Amino acid sequence: MFNITGPGTDIFKKSRFEWRPQEKCGIFAVHNYHGSENAALITYLGLLALQHRGQESAGMAFKSKGGIKYIKGMGLVEHVFPRDSLCSIEADAILGHVRYSTTGSSLAANAQPLVARAVDQTGIALAHNGNLTNTRRLHNKLLNDGQIFHTTSDTEILLSYLFRFKRQGLVNAVHKTMSIVEGAYSAVILDEDQLVAFRDPNGFRPLVIGRLNEAFIFASETSALDMVGASFVREVEPGEIVTAGPDGLNALKTIPDSDPSLCIFEYVYFSRPDSILGDKSVYEVRRQVGSLLAGRINAELDMVIPSPDSGVSAAIGLAESLNLPMEWAVHRNPYLGRTFIEPTQNEREMAVRLKFNPVKELIRGKKMAVVDDSLVRGTTARVLAALLRRAGAAEVHLCIASPPYIYPCYYGIDIPAAGDLAAMEPNLCQLAQSIGADSITFAELGDLFNAVGKGQSRLCTACFNGIYPEPGQMRGKVS
Ligand code: SF4
Repeated sequence: MFNITGPGTDIFKKSRFEWRPQEKCGIFAVHNYHGSENAALITYLGLLALQHRGQESAGMAFKSKGGIKYIKGMGLVEHVFPRDSLCSIEADAILGHVRYSTTGSSLAANAQPLVARAVDQTGIALAHNGNLTNTRRLHNKLLNDGQIFHTTSDTEILLSYLFRFKRQGLVNAVHKTMSIVEGAYSAVILDEDQLVAFRDPNGFRPLVIGRLNEAFIFASETSALDMVGASFVREVEPGEIVTAGPDGLNALKTIPDSDPSLCIFEYVYFSRPDSILGDKSVYEVRRQVGSLLAGRINAELDMVIPSPDSGVSAAIGLAESLNLPMEWAVHRNPYLGRTFIEPTQNEREMAVRLKFNPVKELIRGKKMAVVDDSLVRGTTARVLAALLRRAGAAEVHLCIASPPYIYPCYYGIDIPAAGDLAAMEPNLCQLAQSIGADSITFAELGDLFNAVGKGQSRLCTACFNGIYPEPGQMRGKVS
């Protein structure tokens, strides 16, 4: 079964009117679910909770009489899975995925889970969050071996190796594949008997284990467990393979002392504020970074305004520390999510203007700090500054709850070219001027380390400081 449903592919292109760093994917999988709802509905709810991690396509794979089947298509979860299609899925184990493409285009063929079947119809389905860094070499090698590719996604490389080694048992196949692939992968496989979750030795992307009565769940974030009423068991450790099968949960640590490098941007922007990541509340980390920003701002202020909605947690921390009111002085229209296709900068700015409207009575004559989680393209900051000034703001000071974003990510995050990265301008006065703000203040990496409670050796911070966790990945700024 291969459904192409939901809105057309063109509106999900990467060049959205308001560019934000894009996460590659979200995973939600359930095994041995026999509750009052069906497992497909549980997976649907889990994927809805993870929709922020990918809006291009969604899919579910499940075991049925004829082998592994799937439903997937382009668009949001609610478009891809009509209610009657969920009710007809009779399976107690389901693997679900939401996707945003980084390696590979936004094509229906790249929608996940990807499925590989043998002639006897036995097979495996794979859902992957992350990005392999040795894709080109492995792709060429597989081509030379006679492999025909059906997608343009690095996930197919992962699937190819898993399927080749499957006869040795699924856990062995994962173990062997992990010795070949490099980069970021938090992934889950479904076969006829079990779900197998595994995470690269650096643990770039999150993956957690949950429990819902007798069922086990694997999910990208704890907020997805909350959504279905499951309890958090623990994280899948970096370098670990965890199986949920007929005899419960089994774990194998492939590397005794792996060197974790969780993506710090998960705390800054990607993960939901109501998720727990590495024992830390994402909301609490953002709030604390906002609070630490208070010591870095050099301006007299009347109020703090969050950039809707990405700056809210940090703005709360900043307002608390400065003992200032936080005002919802910019209204965001939530119904203008993806309106413009292949826009020019002018169109992008017009779209942001349509999306935000200031509450003029709050703003007139006031000096304000405008807080956002990160500064990438600067489109939103630029338009907000102009809107606030037009509404009568006396001063607009931009506060960014992360350091300047200037190095490329190879681990599953899509960023624009250097010319589009606002923070490539190193002079803060000129940067503020180009955005239309009176000043700009960035958090420092040390603020993030303090808030997360971990240092450089336990986190990936490469897009901020160019220090890549994998050997041989010392590269220059975005070019
Ligand atoms: S480079 Fe940045 S976005 Fe990419 S994994 Fe590292 S911290 Fe995350």
